[in-house]
Amino acid sequence: MSNESFRALVVEEDAGTRRVELRDVRVADLPPGEVLVKVAYSTLNYKDGLAVTGKGKILRVNPMAPGIDFAGTVVESQSSAYKPGDEVVLTGWGVGERHWGGFSQFNRVKAGWLVPLPKGLTLQQAMAIGTAGFTAMLCVLALERHGLTNDGREVVVTGAAGGVGSVAVALLARAGYKVVASTGRPEEADYLRDLGAADILDRSFFTKPGRPLESERWAGAVDTVGGPTLGGIFRTVASHGVVAACGNAGGVEFTSSVFPFILRSVKLVGVESVMVPLPERLAAWERLARDLPTDVLDRMTSVIPLAAVPEYSETITQAQVRGRIVVDVQA
Ligand code: NDP
Repeated sequence: MSNESFRALVVEEDAGTRRVELRDVRVADLPPGEVLVKVAYSTLNYKDGLAVTGKGKILRVNPMAPGIDFAGTVVESQSSAYKPGDEVVLTGWGVGERHWGGFSQFNRVKAGWLVPLPKGLTLQQAMAIGTAGFTAMLCVLALERHGLTNDGREVVVTGAAGGVGSVAVALLARAGYKVVASTGRPEEADYLRDLGAADILDRSFFTKPGRPLESERWAGAVDTVGGPTLGGIFRTVASHGVVAACGNAGGVEFTSSVFPFILRSVKLVGVESVMVPLPERLAAWERLARDLPTDVLDRMTSVIPLAAVPEYSETITQAQVRGRIVVDVQA
């Protein structure tokens, strides 16, 4: 295999010039690792958009293939955990940031970074879920772990028409929660209702000026937007409600008063998806495979070829992407 070459989307910065191009790379030039994977699909996440466009400092190696997740088939393995022919999924661990990423037809990684393709999912469906869906699942699990129960009260998802948001809406609706989808794109209302949203809320609800505490509304919240939106959420979280914060698409800094915390016992839970230990990963993937209806997943997914990643990277950083974008790496 080592002399074979394959295609990868490579970002290279050199003396102030930034090139993003499809290149031929040799298997022998891949980084060391126990498992060589023929990548079938990757996805385009917000972070990948920042990496490809250079709008965010995501890539820590130069030159580098971005792509923070992938699914494919094991070709060679020095680990007893995997053998050639096994189908595997990878999200996180700094792949596509510090380690060669998923926008590459082959990759070589540590065995401990992989999970077996969950039963009931195809490689393409696993990537339709991808980092965004995995993060959405971690948010739902965090809400439940911190006391969210299905008592008929509303649960809000911000950035609902984006990748993490779309999967969060679908998962929460499937679990029976009354989901309110907060979006800046009213034209996506039908799409969000189709995913299971009971109601649509304009995202300005959270950023307009208001008192430190307003009428109690949310039993829970999944916030993919951060910044002023996260600050705004606290004003309307109901007593003993819980907020899972995972994103910063709308900013990094937020302000809140202490009142939601000391008068309503509101809980804020941070969610990261990169360094999640294996048992928790496997549990999240198992529940995704069990609970996320594949027809709903298919309806929130578009598939693009590797060559289209630069164009769509611009689109995702302008918050114009609906749902999930799967990258067909072999196309
Ligand atoms: P997307 O671009 O697909 O979705 C983000 C959504 O946020 C947009 O669709 C839009 O939703 C909303 N949005 C964007 N900009 C603004 C703004 N200025 N103000 C208010 N709302 C805005 O991204 P992803 O779903 O891939 O990721 C969402 C966030 O989660 C990102 O910040 C990402 O970095 C983070 N993330 C974090 C992870 C972790 O491990 N913690 C893992 C994965 C993602 P709408 O049009 O509906 O308003």
